[in-house]
Amino acid sequence: MDLYEREAKELLARWDIRVPRGRVANTPGEAARLARELEGAEVAVKAQVRAGGRGKAGLVRVVSQAEVAVAVAGILGARHRGERVEKVLLEEKLDIAQELYAGVIVDTRLGLPLLLLSGRGGVEIEELAAVKPEAVYRETLTRIPPLHRITAAWLAAGYQGPALGEVARATRSLLEMFFASDATMAEINPLVCTVAGAVVAADAKVTVDDAALFRQPWAAGLVRPPEGKMEEMARQYRLAYVSLDVGGDIGIIAGGAGLALATMDMVRAWGGRPANFLDTGGGVSAGQVAAAMRIVHGTPGVRGILVNIFGGINNCLTVAQGIREFMAAEPLVARLVVKMRGHSQEEGWALLEEAGVKVVKYGSTEEAVKLLLAE
Ligand code: GDP
Ligand code: MN
Repeated sequence: MDLYEREAKELLARWDIRVPRGRVANTPGEAARLARELEGAEVAVKAQVRAGGRGKAGLVRVVSQAEVAVAVAGILGARHRGERVEKVLLEEKLDIAQELYAGVIVDTRLGLPLLLLSGRGGVEIEELAAVKPEAVYRETLTRIPPLHRITAAWLAAGYQGPALGEVARATRSLLEMFFASDATMAEINPLVCTVAGAVVAADAKVTVDDAALFRQPWAAGLVRPPEGKMEEMARQYRLAYVSLDVGGDIGIIAGGAGLALATMDMVRAWGGRPANFLDTGGGVSAGQVAAAMRIVHGTPGVRGILVNIFGGINNCLTVAQGIREFMAAEPLVARLVVKMRGHSQEEGWALLEEAGVKVVKYGSTEEAVKLLLAE
């Protein structure tokens, strides 16, 4: 689960990391009123979306009190990397002397946390890291290092300013928070050293492992917009459904996430636009397949469905029975091509062909894609 900036900052504050005073607003009028509570001549107005890169997209602005409402009106409702801005965060303006970067992320290759530090934080860090990797200090961790090691790491990362002690302490707190919260990623960018000598987290991103939410009740209790109908149904049937939200018209049902992704790539390669994909997983029941068909077929805009199943753990007859169950309950409006092979394939194929469904038997996924798109 990705936290919103304000949520991540509340978490950091609980670990004694300083964060700017802030208020969350839903409308320009509310924003203007809440900004006055912050008392500065200028305030930072920040779109609350979970993706980064807001600064470069013009969704973080420092404005005078008089300009708050207009700035907020320009930010609310904007779309950023697929997310609509519903709320803004108003914060006291920081007098920035220096911007640092501090992050920790699970290195999935090693299965260990990786500490990332840079004396040159801010909106350019990703580009900088790409062209000048040595600008980012990296250290794989097996435990939280003692403070003197963190201090040494910051020196190696290119920071030797007057706030070194505070910066190291904030970094240790970040690591303590990371481990205690079952985070898979926690990042402060920028970690700001102010002109007055304070160390403040000006931005924060935290991802909490979904599998650990049961023991992180504060995170499980965070309010999120209600799921769509399709997502809810998929969860109910223990199916992994991903809506792609890009105006596609091809729905994909595949047995296994890898096959689903490969099928999606294949559809794209042949000029189709996937609208969603659904991974049935293994050992799927006919009822689950029928639900998968209802979900994918019911996704607005879907005009063609490709079912791609390898009957290893799954059974082709069961899959065919599920498709027939769906067809008996609802008129099939979308084009449908089924490519499946494996256990009980002959019986499965026969059941589908009996109902007029196009079946790719010995051919490749590529053939199935071409057949679906050609219709
Ligand atoms: P991101 O682009 O999504 O990572 O958004 P950030 O919250 O990091 O904001 C982008 C940039 O805006 C930061 O790197 C800062 O330089 C600047 N910024 C953010 N908050 C403040 C603030 O309170 N005061 C000032 N002066 N600048 C800020
Ligand atoms: Mn940032």
